[in-house]
Amino acid sequence: MRLDWRDVIFLKPGERIEFQCGNVQLDQFKGPGKWEFYPSDSSKGLLVFTNKRILFITTYDQPQLWLEIPHSEVGRFEPGVWQTRTGFFGTSSLTHRELMVRPKGWQVGDQPTASFQFLTENSLEEATKQLRKCLETFEKELQEESEKSRRIEVVHRGAVGVVDFSQLASMMGQKGLVLQVIQCPNCLGKVDVPKVGNLAKCQYCGKDIYAVDIFDKFKGLLGA
Ligand SMILES: [Zn+2]
Repeated sequence: MRLDWRDVIFLKPGERIEFQCGNVQLDQFKGPGKWEFYPSDSSKGLLVFTNKRILFITTYDQPQLWLEIPHSEVGRFEPGVWQTRTGFFGTSSLTHRELMVRPKGWQVGDQPTASFQFLTENSLEEATKQLRKCLETFEKELQEESEKSRRIEVVHRGAVGVVDFSQLASMMGQKGLVLQVIQCPNCLGKVDVPKVGNLAKCQYCGKDIYAVDIFDKFKGLLGA
């Protein structure tokens, strides 16, 4: 029985396949502490992008997951097209279309993490476009995830602590302090403190500022 390439991918929670491109050859890959080149037919296969990873599946015999690069490790990627002369007199030329993936912290002179050669006309352009989109999606989802856990944390802490600006004002009043203006943690703009509610909104950048965070800042001062 022949496996389908989808059978060899195990998607992580929240992971989905965004793009796949066949007729790709893995040229080189830099693993931990070693260099590997794959010049043979056995390194031909399928390049798959998900919202979390770059995957390469060889399809020579049975499909096999050969390589995975999490988006979190990708510093940048570069598409390249160049000519190679072949033959005794160098008369014929081959066009290489290659996508190089550079790890984070990559510098000029370093080798890429992986390079993929595209054997089908125009597929490099499409793959480049799709990978850019996938990396943007990854960054956006990462940010949304941290915002969400931040909100959950606030709700959780709000259940046991001080969340309200009016409570905060009265606690500060007991120490002879008046809190009128706070600094936005995002843009450092001066934000007026609301009289009530647990939330202030920065009028410059729109960032939510929670009373509980302001309370945390003045905790020492309030002796709480
Ligand atoms: Zn702001």
